Amino acid sequence: MPSGRPSKRHPKSGAEHVPLDLERALGGRRSEDAPDGTWTVQRVKGSDKTFRCPGCQQVIGPHLAHVVAWASDGLLGPTSALEDRRHWHRACWDARGRRR
Ligand SMILES: [Zn+2]
Repeated sequence: MPSGRPSKRHPKSGAEHVPLDLERALGGRRSEDAPDGTWTVQRVKGSDKTFRCPGCQQVIGPHLAHVVAWASDGLLGPTSALEDRRHWHRACWDARGRRR
């Protein structure tokens, strides 16, 4: 018997709400806590473009699987942080947290 009870629960996550289209486009994301904040990390298969990895300053070549990361607690909000996302080699991203 249907009632007016909402089926969705939102456990205190209003601050990192991302529009549904974006979430769908970005499937496979996960959050990682790091000393410098919380990052949203997504594995990507690569594209036609090349990117500069901020970890090693080397180029990430076309069609090379890598990760894209952006601050999910960015000061200007997740959408702005998303526009400022960075492309990393997977190994460089993994090594990032261990470096001091
Ligand atoms: Zn790198």
